[in-house]
Amino acid sequence: MRVLVLTGAGVSAESGIPTFRGKDGYWRNLDPTKLATADAFTRDPQLVWEWYRERRQRISDARPNAAHEAIARLAQCTDDFLLVTQNVDDLHARGGVAAEKMVQIHGNIFISRCSRCDWTRFEHEHPPSPRLRRTSEQEQEEGIPKCLKCTALMRPGVVWFGEQLPRNELQRVEDFLDRGACDVVIVAGTTATFGYIIDWALRGSRDGGELIEVNPEETPLSRFATQLVREPAAIALPRIVDELMNRVRPSL
Ligand SMILES: [Zn+2]
Repeated sequence: MRVLVLTGAGVSAESGIPTFRGKDGYWRNLDPTKLATADAFTRDPQLVWEWYRERRQRISDARPNAAHEAIARLAQCTDDFLLVTQNVDDLHARGGVAAEKMVQIHGNIFISRCSRCDWTRFEHEHPPSPRLRRTSEQEQEEGIPKCLKCTALMRPGVVWFGEQLPRNELQRVEDFLDRGACDVVIVAGTTATFGYIIDWALRGSRDGGELIEVNPEETPLSRFATQLVREPAAIALPRIVDELMNRVRPSL
């Protein structure tokens, strides 16, 4: 069975990671869609770093939920599998999806990369250290990390609004889709507002494959889905994965 899974913020929301949309996403009364931009970083890198440090800490404190675990089971039991996630957290990885079966199309929040050259650094946040309550002075001392190669400012290794998707990761998705159509495409916890998510879902299911949408609300993808599941991902996915695995390995 060939399976493509596309996930978005709704999957991590159930682990307590706030989405950018709505009141919960606001930080110090600031709109995240305006903070997650190159402009905001140019204007006030300190502020942007404070926000990302808080988010890193929050993600470190969070745990994968039943949706992450269900997707990991599916990844282990299907011979040809790719997960494409828009989430920059590491909950899919900690849930058990191997790196070679996963594309983080919007980057990884635990990577810092130079804003000028190609130098990157992985921030070791795991296993999570006991929560440290940082004073604002300590936070300020940490300042803005600088590149060890060219001394330019480091930035979080994520794709900001208005930026291109990372070429290597994009290529991995294209290669998977070029190798053939999928039997099943699952799109979970994303409002599918980005055209490429819809494009990949449709190309993945192009030869009569199933297209399962898991989202409490209607999205632009809904009208193409062969199965609509209007439930949170952590409730729906364990059941859907069980059903799919019974098809792959009929129980005796
Ligand atoms: Zn550099």
